[in-house]
Amino acid sequence: MKVIMLGAPGAGKGTQAKKIAAKYNIPHISTGDIFRENIKGETQLGLKAKVYMDQGLLVPDELVLELIVDRFKAPDCKDGYVLDGFPRTIPQAKALDAALVKNNDRIEFAIDVYVADEVIIDRMAGRRACLDCGRTYHVDTLKPKVEGICDYCNTKLVLRDDDKPETVKMRLEVYHEQTQPLLDYYKEKGILYSVDGTGAIDDIYEEIIQVLMA
Ligand code: AMP
Repeated sequence: MKVIMLGAPGAGKGTQAKKIAAKYNIPHISTGDIFRENIKGETQLGLKAKVYMDQGLLVPDELVLELIVDRFKAPDCKDGYVLDGFPRTIPQAKALDAALVKNNDRIEFAIDVYVADEVIIDRMAGRRACLDCGRTYHVDTLKPKVEGICDYCNTKLVLRDDDKPETVKMRLEVYHEQTQPLLDYYKEKGILYSVDGTGAIDDIYEEIIQVLMA
């Protein structure tokens, strides 16, 4: 199964992507996580990407495509994947389609998790991240067992630079301008499904599963 998660930054698509990936036993591929791992490892790719990410801007398409095309070659992708944060521009979507068509393949579902901008700005201000494993929590809605500490790594949780309100506003602008056009792109292909992203995590998940099983 090949699924794309769409939605603004902070809409909760990463949380849902992880749950879907676990249910179908396919990898959850987050380009944001891959960039953050590269930043942590101080790779060339990480150093280049950081300049854009810290400003809330998109990393240029050619850098993203370079890393994602490599990722699809890994053996764990043989039964599909859940893409989270990719594609984010029309050129990325077209490049993805072109890569799949070569293997007579295609994306089956594009799931849009919809949340209004004001709700996202509030949510992101409360989000806390573990810079070791990439897991995210929320000070009100997804608390770690011990306040401020990652359940898995025992590392101190932080407010990511790109989750700060001024950066979030910029990311939302970038989303509306460059990523939202993908909704029409996948609607025209007949594979767009929109879910309301403001309910409880498990209810949203159930709604998505109904779509994937239909
Ligand atoms: P995310 O964790 O998906 O919100 O991604 C964090 C940041 O990584 C974004 O704000 C972008 O700067 C960068 N990024 C992640 N995925 C992409 C992509 N597909 N295209 C361009 N930039 C990306």
